Amino acid sequence: MELKERIRKLALAKGFDLVRFTSAESFAEDESSSIKRIRDGHMDGYSWYTEARVRKMNRPMDLLEGAKSVISLAVSYLGENPEKTRLNYGRTARYAWGEDYHITIKTKIKEFTNSLEEVVGANVRTRAFVDDGPMNDRAAARRSGLGWVGKNTNVISPRFGSWILLGQVVTDLHLEPDTPLKKTCGSCVRCIDDCPTGAIVAPYVIDNTKCISYLTIELKGSIPIDLRPLVGDWVFGCDICQDVCPVNRKAESGETALSGDFKQRPGFATPDLVALLELDQKTFSRIYKNSPVKRAKRIGLQRNACVALGNNGDSSAIQPLIKALEGSESLVRAHAAWALGKFAESGECKAVKALQSALDKENDDDVLQEIQLALSPLETTW
Ligand code: SF4
Repeated sequence: MELKERIRKLALAKGFDLVRFTSAESFAEDESSSIKRIRDGHMDGYSWYTEARVRKMNRPMDLLEGAKSVISLAVSYLGENPEKTRLNYGRTARYAWGEDYHITIKTKIKEFTNSLEEVVGANVRTRAFVDDGPMNDRAAARRSGLGWVGKNTNVISPRFGSWILLGQVVTDLHLEPDTPLKKTCGSCVRCIDDCPTGAIVAPYVIDNTKCISYLTIELKGSIPIDLRPLVGDWVFGCDICQDVCPVNRKAESGETALSGDFKQRPGFATPDLVALLELDQKTFSRIYKNSPVKRAKRIGLQRNACVALGNNGDSSAIQPLIKALEGSESLVRAHAAWALGKFAESGECKAVKALQSALDKENDDDVLQEIQLALSPLETTW
């Protein structure tokens, strides 16, 4: 059997759904477009995403001495449908419903690379990446023909859609490169039209500062006021540009997803927003152990829960929001004030009173400003 075929069989046996090969040549076009994104300010907020890093991640030969090829791998994470959402329940991006994929895929990649020498019959040097190091995994996946890059910047497999997680193995093995796919998004622009914040500013260009994923996960401070209503009920990430993608409607689930590796933990897909508001640090650490959600940190998640409760508009959230307005975290208090302001605007006296009373007690300038802003539309009726 040809070497590539033996490697492909090994990767499939270790739980990967897609296996393709490309050379270790630089991804020159990707390097210049990523540098342009940085210079255009579309990566603001990602301090680690520097031009030096972009150069490194697009030059696989710099990542491993003697690198000749990249083995591009993917696992489908399209499993069960989400639990039904109810009033005052938020939404979490699908990849975060279960175990952290870094752990799941790293385990698989390790098993794969550990068995590679046996399959090859010689010494093999490898370096593996799972969305956690300087490797442009989308560029490798695209050039290997694993999928094409959609206008929403996700890699799309004709069979599994964009519900795939990528892993790359740079190796000193010479493996004949596969050819890129001819398929593209064509004239479709659904993801661009349906993104609530308009974060896909042009095909293949995302302004991260507007992306709900960035706002709910990476951003550690205040969510810009004009974007809060557009965040809707998302509390960790967002799947809108994937949910609306026509390719994803016909996507298959892979063996790994079906076998339960990405099984959703109860309450993760559609979390109870009030319960999030009430989480203490110990409970947060226990619930979100080995979950991607812990990246948002407890305070970030509670900030997001305030925004989602304000957007949901169900008055049963007023009391928990008042409690949050009296809490110890200024970031959460600021967003609770904003959410209460939404209820106050719709005539909820309890929300107005809580904001007015907080005006006298609050001593953090940012929170005070949020309270004043929340009350300002009502000034004429005071
Ligand atoms: Fe491409 Fe349309 Fe899917 Fe966007 S929604 S990624 S344009 S196919």
